Amino acid sequence: MVSDEQTVHVIGVDVGGTKTLAARVLLPLSGQDQAVASGASETVQAEAPSVQDRELVGSSSHEEAVLTQIEHAVAALLDRSDRRVDAIGVGLAGFIGLDGIARSAPNAPGLIGVDVAAALTARFGVPVAIDNDANCVAVAAQSMFGTPTSSILAVTLGTGIGGGIVLDGELYRGAHGFAGEPGHMVINPLGPECPCGQRGCWERYASGSGLGWLGRTAAASGQAEAVLARAGSVDRIDGEVVTELMEQGEAGAVRIFTEFAGYVALGLANLMLLFDPKVIVIGGGLAAVGEELTTLVQADLLQRFPAASRDRDVQILSAPLGPEAGALGAALIAAKMLGRSGS
Ligand SMILES: [Zn+2]
Repeated sequence: MVSDEQTVHVIGVDVGGTKTLAARVLLPLSGQDQAVASGASETVQAEAPSVQDRELVGSSSHEEAVLTQIEHAVAALLDRSDRRVDAIGVGLAGFIGLDGIARSAPNAPGLIGVDVAAALTARFGVPVAIDNDANCVAVAAQSMFGTPTSSILAVTLGTGIGGGIVLDGELYRGAHGFAGEPGHMVINPLGPECPCGQRGCWERYASGSGLGWLGRTAAASGQAEAVLARAGSVDRIDGEVVTELMEQGEAGAVRIFTEFAGYVALGLANLMLLFDPKVIVIGGGLAAVGEELTTLVQADLLQRFPAASRDRDVQILSAPLGPEAGALGAALIAAKMLGRSGS
């Protein structure tokens, strides 16, 4: 398929809860080969790959329409270009098997058990890679902040928590494809119920939903009067209300957000002990808070988790890695698949 040996044309797709983004990415094939072949640990990639064109389509509430939306977004990009595409990558939230088939898909339940790759290959005639969306973000983060052999964790803090693990330059998928799901690490077996069937999962505390829960818990015990007043009732307190008041310096909201940052630090400490990353990139909606979050997390790590934080220099970056990073990562994964299949 690759007619120009210097460049591969890849389309990456990020399937979100409300929107699906497809991005067209041109990648230097030779550059990739070089990085892999030399294993150059000190060589920072000269230029991070960038998105050339993008197409955003709103997701329908009809789950079965998601596949149609992906096809529509890809077709729209092809219509605006020379129609050349060598591979397609798709990032989906959930447990995605090594066969590319979703076992869970909170943003698109209709895709559970569906061979999306086969459907897209039948339509567009090119190889297709399907992966977890946070895995895609981790691969994109490595291209932006890492070296070809660095170890990077991406943790996305949104409605839930997603994760992607790049170890020594390679995405780690695990035995079944399910590695990098730190949101369901149990940090309190007596904690609140999680839709996954467990109790006290990390994402019950350290996601946007968790922040809302911490806010409601504080308000219910009379500890968050301003937050309660802004939301109108305890039930209506969510992570956004707490964040908004925290950014205005309201004391109760600052206290809740500090507790929240402590839970983020707790999970990161466990991940740091396990993987010893060089860089941790925080993505997802809460990354928009920026340094106010990472400063609290860094301080908490040093204070409460010395075993995880001493004698190491870990950069914790808050990067608003939105759907574009997911789409870019999906494109990078698809391009790598091309290289492996010898195209
Ligand atoms: Zn869970």
